Amino acid sequence: MMLPTHALGGMALGLAVGAVAPEFAGVALIAGLFGGILPDLDLYAGHRRTLHYPVYYSALAAVAFVPALLAPSAGTVGLAVFFLGAATHSVADAFGGGLELRPWEGTSDRAVYDHYRNRWIVPRRWVRYDGSPGDLMLSLTLAAPLSLVLDGLPRYVVVASAAVAVLYAAVRRFLPDIAEVLIASLLPVLPGRVVARLPDRYLQAHSQ
Ligand SMILES: [Zn+2]
Repeated sequence: MMLPTHALGGMALGLAVGAVAPEFAGVALIAGLFGGILPDLDLYAGHRRTLHYPVYYSALAAVAFVPALLAPSAGTVGLAVFFLGAATHSVADAFGGGLELRPWEGTSDRAVYDHYRNRWIVPRRWVRYDGSPGDLMLSLTLAAPLSLVLDGLPRYVVVASAAVAVLYAAVRRFLPDIAEVLIASLLPVLPGRVVARLPDRYLQAHSQ
């Protein structure tokens, strides 16, 4: 799933926790947002492996909810929601598409890495790929109640995320072609160490 969907999903989790514990609504919302975003910071460094931990984030979230329930504070609740957001993101990616450059082709058997079992989880494709119509629908479904309930800066973040989701979904199918042209033209002039750091999916596409 695309980053806006994960960001909105994290905020929705934060909102739900905030409904139960209104005194921590603000910190829960922020923690959910950042937890939802965190895993995708690995986009260009071992994507869906380096910062995606479906099992370990889930375990951390379960553990973190004990102090959050026993001794609720901004710190304990924030940490629990943060790990819950990161866990939900990592698990949700297993229900999306694979890691290939054109995930709508459905050729990759890698959705997200399971460090606990040392293997890739196969994509379930309930949401066919990141930026697919189904993904956009999910983003907008999450954004609708959030934008109704929130106001001020949080509402702006929701609307901006939804706008990015619409734009990304609109251009998603063209992105691999653009990336291929860019990389084909840049490869001869890029230093070797930069080429070595390019994600495999781009280099595989170029060598095909
Ligand atoms: Zn992800």
